[in-house]
Amino acid sequence: VSDHRRLLKYDAATELLSESLAIYVHIPYCRKICPYCDFNVYALKRIPEKEYVSALIDELETYAVKDEFKNKIVTSLYFGGGTPSVFSPEAFELFLKKVRQLFRLAIDSEITIEANPLDLDYHKASALKDLGVNRVSLGVQSLISEKLKLLGRDHSPKDVEYTFNLLRKAGFSNINLDLIFHTPEENPQQLQLDLSRYCEMNPEHISAYGLTIEPGTPFFQAQARGRLRLPDEDVFVELFNLISSRLSAAGYDHYEISNYAKPEKYSRHNQGYWKFHDYLGLGAGAHSAINTFSDDSKLVSRCRWANYAKPDEYIASSHKVAWQEQLDSQLMEEEFILLALRMSSGLDLPQFRRFFGRDLVESRRDVIKTLADQGLLEVTSTILKISPQGRLITDSIIASLLTGESHD
Ligand code: SF4
Repeated sequence: VSDHRRLLKYDAATELLSESLAIYVHIPYCRKICPYCDFNVYALKRIPEKEYVSALIDELETYAVKDEFKNKIVTSLYFGGGTPSVFSPEAFELFLKKVRQLFRLAIDSEITIEANPLDLDYHKASALKDLGVNRVSLGVQSLISEKLKLLGRDHSPKDVEYTFNLLRKAGFSNINLDLIFHTPEENPQQLQLDLSRYCEMNPEHISAYGLTIEPGTPFFQAQARGRLRLPDEDVFVELFNLISSRLSAAGYDHYEISNYAKPEKYSRHNQGYWKFHDYLGLGAGAHSAINTFSDDSKLVSRCRWANYAKPDEYIASSHKVAWQEQLDSQLMEEEFILLALRMSSGLDLPQFRRFFGRDLVESRRDVIKTLADQGLLEVTSTILKISPQGRLITDSIIASLLTGESHD
């Protein structure tokens, strides 16, 4: 691949589903495991950075020579985890150099790294910036000390402020702050204070997730023993609505059920998932999905696979894929609907027709009419979307659409 081709600019043309590729890199290590987390993560005394990066590069080399990846343009690259910031800048340098050698990276590709507020100093932040990282997602969760302690986090609100400012100083103009809500004892007043502090910091993007208690976590055990209780469902609704209205008033678009961003700062990488783009997942437990189209843009197949989840197994194995499946047309349709309706922009009806060769509104006429009459769905000639009132029951609206039966 010649240099000028590698530097293709991301533009409307590269948005074409058949050309653009998102790469996700899973770094499965954390300094300590948070009591609510059920991700594929490990806290080790010695993090095998060198071995892991070398396995990632092997994987990259394997895919780079495959036909289905040869004409792709990488429009986003996302280091997630785990806590990618536990790795040194040298590890990222090695990996990014390889990506640039082997793939066509759009000149304005979005390159994100998830970071713990305690992992970055000015030197590390500048080094990452120099390597082309242009977006940082900070695992903040809250800016209230008591809430952070309850969540078992090891940083304080002051640490977040310090890291946020040094990222700005290092030149980062696209920063996400994570927020967890619906935590034990949380009430609207406490969340109001948290939101005010987030807005004062004025990041470009905020991801807000309601806490869920997952089996196998210390929080799950505490809940089973009656030592931990989440606020009731009606408090969840109140908190969700509070976030939506407070952040909207501060100039954030509620562009996906859990994501808010300033205009032009939506996460390109995550939108790729919701818009059914191709993505290649590298690293332990990472998932991938690649579409195949016919000449007339009909979606012929979607192949999904996942790597071995345990880092040791992932590093040691030459063929890193644990399972692979081919979605049939019904599953592809369901997944397309499920993902598109998470976004406030909704589902592109002409695209659905192109992909699946049939009209969604026509084939689900009765249930769409019922849901639209209830004010839960909005439908035009080109878009089908969940209304703001319907957002909180997104899952049940999608279930109705998929089964063709409306739930009262
Ligand atoms: S830092 Fe993030 S990924 Fe790691 S254990 Fe905590 S919540 Fe999970």
